[in-house]
Amino acid sequence: MSLLDYEDRVSCVLFAKPCNFRCPFCHNGDLVLQSQHFIPWAEIIDYLKKRGGLIDAVVFTGGEPTMMPDLKEKIIEVRNMGFEIKLDTNGTNPEVVKDLIDSKLIDYVAMDIKNEPKLYAGTCGKDAIALDKIKETINLLMNSGIDYEFRTTLVKEFHENTNFNEMGIMIEGARKLYLQKFVDRDGCIVRGLNEVSQEKAEEYAEILRAHVKQVELRGY
Ligand code: SF4
Repeated sequence: MSLLDYEDRVSCVLFAKPCNFRCPFCHNGDLVLQSQHFIPWAEIIDYLKKRGGLIDAVVFTGGEPTMMPDLKEKIIEVRNMGFEIKLDTNGTNPEVVKDLIDSKLIDYVAMDIKNEPKLYAGTCGKDAIALDKIKETINLLMNSGIDYEFRTTLVKEFHENTNFNEMGIMIEGARKLYLQKFVDRDGCIVRGLNEVSQEKAEEYAEILRAHVKQVELRGY
């Protein structure tokens, strides 16, 4: 249960596995690297039924929830119980996101923007990624009318001033971008990475404000 994951709502956060990225700074290394631990769906439904009056929304996060073959069915089940739905995604499955938006099954989407295009794959811990899919999801969110945010976790080893103009161009005209503070902790895929200082984060935000209407720091 969380007060932070969906603004102004009390939400129940469901962590899906696996993920097609390996971001070194990921806090959910256990999920991403295929944990065998999971909560049976019936138990989750039971939990939600008992706390119906206390929870406003359910957040599907991960891992990468759009990789779940039965994500839509699960969202329908939860939505029919009266909860708002937020989806967190890395943007690699625009078809899934589009179907959920078209079916009016989700209320809010938070999508990661990892870095400028030429550094995107490396920042995700991959040799190559389908950047066209990421761009498709960006366009989808910006043009669908759904409430959304973009967000970037700032990591000293991956980000510097020169990245943010090109990153801003990727999301030119977007409504909202949060620059999130990284915290090194147990569960990270790679330990020992460093946070970006508040001063630097403010500099990055200023560069991005030339492209995005609202840029804010989160966690600073
Ligand atoms: S940060 Fe997100 S996209 Fe990256 S590995 Fe973790 S769950 Fe996947």
